[in-house]
Amino acid sequence: MEQTFIMIKPDGVQRGLVGEIIGRFEKKGFSLKGLKFLNVDQAFAEKHYADLSSKPFFNGLVEYIISGPVVAMVWEGKNVVTTGRKIIGATNPADSAPGTIRGDFAIDIGRNVIHGSDAVESARKEIGLWFPEGVANWSSSLQPWIYE
Ligand code: UDP
Ligand code: MG
Repeated sequence: MEQTFIMIKPDGVQRGLVGEIIGRFEKKGFSLKGLKFLNVDQAFAEKHYADLSSKPFFNGLVEYIISGPVVAMVWEGKNVVTTGRKIIGATNPADSAPGTIRGDFAIDIGRNVIHGSDAVESARKEIGLWFPEGVANWSSSLQPWIYE
């Protein structure tokens, strides 16, 4: 089953959106496979965002991600990478549709509350980086009520 890496950024934590965000993924029917609450350091944040290292906003992005604790999660389900991105909404909250997390809870692109992997391959890399110890092994007993 497909997995994605989701991170509630420091602004999402500070603003008390942790329960709301987890609830949206849970209620959709996806399964929580990994969860931790932690601070990351600069080197780790730079590794997570390595693909963006040449961007003008890179240093500010790293500062933002290390500015407080984050909630790192692995969610599992059919098409969870693509659907997770839809639940999150467009990168710039000015373009995120109402009903998405960024559309409902964010205004500025540099304070957009949440990260989600953009492809199955980046999800695999990000899960390996954030959860080198692996994730929980379980399957929800609700599965037959969610999948036909
Ligand atoms: N970002 C920014 N300014 C920009 C573009 C991106 O501050 O002009 C930040 C924003 O927090 C975004 C993150 O960099 O979520 C990663 O950028 P990416 O293009 O990967 O967007 P995402 O995949 O998070 O939607
Ligand atoms: Mg991205």
